[in-house]
Amino acid sequence: MLPRPEKIIFTDGFASQNAPVEERLCPELSREEYRIDITADRIVLTGSGDAGLFYARTTLEQLRMIYKEMLPCMKITDRPAYPFRSFHIDCARHYFSVDELKKMIRMSAEFKLNYFHWHISDDQGWRIESLRYPKLHEVSSVRGGDHFGNYHSDQTEGGYYSRAEVKEIIEYCGRFGIEIVPEIDMPGHVTAILAAYPELSCLGEPVEVGMRAGIFKELFCAGKEETFTFIFELLEELLELFPGQYFHIGGDEAPKERWRACPHCQKRMREEGLKNEQELQGYFCNRIASYLLSKGRIPIVWNEAVYGGNLDKETVVQLWTEDKDAQIKAHLDRGGRAVLSMVDQCYCDYPYSMHSLKDVYEIETSPAELGERGEDSVLGTECLIWTEFIRDNERLEEMCWPRFAASAEVGWCGSNRPGYVDFCRRLEVLFPLFEKYGIHATGKDGWIPDEETAAEQTEAFQRNFSKEDLEEARRMQEEI
Ligand SMILES: [Zn+2]
Repeated sequence: MLPRPEKIIFTDGFASQNAPVEERLCPELSREEYRIDITADRIVLTGSGDAGLFYARTTLEQLRMIYKEMLPCMKITDRPAYPFRSFHIDCARHYFSVDELKKMIRMSAEFKLNYFHWHISDDQGWRIESLRYPKLHEVSSVRGGDHFGNYHSDQTEGGYYSRAEVKEIIEYCGRFGIEIVPEIDMPGHVTAILAAYPELSCLGEPVEVGMRAGIFKELFCAGKEETFTFIFELLEELLELFPGQYFHIGGDEAPKERWRACPHCQKRMREEGLKNEQELQGYFCNRIASYLLSKGRIPIVWNEAVYGGNLDKETVVQLWTEDKDAQIKAHLDRGGRAVLSMVDQCYCDYPYSMHSLKDVYEIETSPAELGERGEDSVLGTECLIWTEFIRDNERLEEMCWPRFAASAEVGWCGSNRPGYVDFCRRLEVLFPLFEKYGIHATGKDGWIPDEETAAEQTEAFQRNFSKEDLEEARRMQEEI
C-alpha cells in the first residue's frame, strides 16, 4: 500500500473481494485517522468523518488491486505523521487546463496528499479572473512569447481560470479531502501584475509581462500606501473565492535594489524604524499576514521572508533554501512552523538524474534549520513542480510521478517510513494506478537513471539556461 499504513495485523482467513463493506463513524478518531477490519464475511471501514472514510476506501481499493482474488483478513490502523502534505504546481509559467489539473489532483489524492499549493501568479503570468481588478486577467495573463533560457518562441502564451473554473477545481479537490493553498507571490515575482498596474512599483514605469526565466528586479513598492490597498482588496476577493485555511504570500527572491533607491520605501523605513531592506520585507509580509490572520486564515511564506528577523510567528515558513544568519532557526524557536520542501530533493522540475526518486524519498525530516523544537516545528512536507521549462502536460506528469508519491509517503509516515527499497517494491505492485488515472509516470528504469541516461538528462537540463541568464541570476541572488 502507498503510503504504507502505520499498523497492519494479519488475522486468519480470507474475505471475498466483494465482501459487504460497512462504513462506521467513530468521533474519537482524529480527522484523517481510519481503521479497516477485514473478516471472512465483511469489511468494516471506520473514520471520524469524510476524510478518514475517504482514506479507508482508498486503502481498500489498493488492497483489491494488490490481492487480485481473495483479501487476507487483517486489521489496519492508520493516521498521518503530518497534517500538511502538499503538492505544488506552477501554472504561472505555463498554463495547464482544468482537466489536466484534475488528473493531477485525482492522482495526488490516491496517495493521501491533502493540500494543492496552486502557484497562480508570477512574473510571467497571472491566472485568475478578477472582478475587482479585471486587467489582471485581461493584461497580466498574456505574454508576448517565451524566451526562457535557450528556448525561444515568439508565440503568444497565456490563459486564465474563470471564477467558475476555480470553483469547479475547488469543488473537485473537496471531493478527495484536498484543500487549495493559492499563492500570490509578493513583493517580488510580480512583473505580470505590474504590467497591468505599473503604479504599484517603486518607479511606476510601464513593464511588460515577463518572457524570460529568473529573478526580476521590479517589486511591489512597500512605501506607497496604495500598494497595500490594492493587495487587501485583491485578497478580499480571493478569500471569498478560496475557502481554505492557508494562503501563500510568497516572499522569495525579492532583490532589494529598487527599494534602496525608492524615496517612498526609504520614508517607510524611517517612519517604522526599520534598519534595512530585509526588515522592510518583514514589515511588508507582516502587514499582509496580519490581514490574513484577521480574516481567520494562516499565511505561508518562502524562507527568504524570515531573513529580516521580524516575521510574526503565526506565519508558516516554507523551507526551500538554506538558513541565513540562523533566522529560520530563530523563527522556529519562537514557535513558528515549517513546511519542508528543500530544493535539492523536492523540486521535481529537476531531472531524475539530479533528484532521483530515492532523493525525494530520503528527505531529512529534521534538518539543522529546525532548531531546538526539531520535528515538532514541522507542519508538513511538499513536492513541487516549476514549469519554466515544462510546456506540456505529458512532460509535467513524467516529472512528477512517481516522485510526488514518494513525497506523499514522507508526509504520511514521517521518520517512520519503511525505507526506499520497501517503497519501490510496493510502488511496482501499484504502478497500474498511474494507468488507471491516465497519468504518464516515469517507469522503473528512470527512477534512478543509469549513468549514460543520467549524463544526458543533466546535460539537457543545463542546456535550458543561457550563460547570460545564469550570470543575471547570480547577480540578483546577491541582492536578495
Ligand atoms: Zn518603493
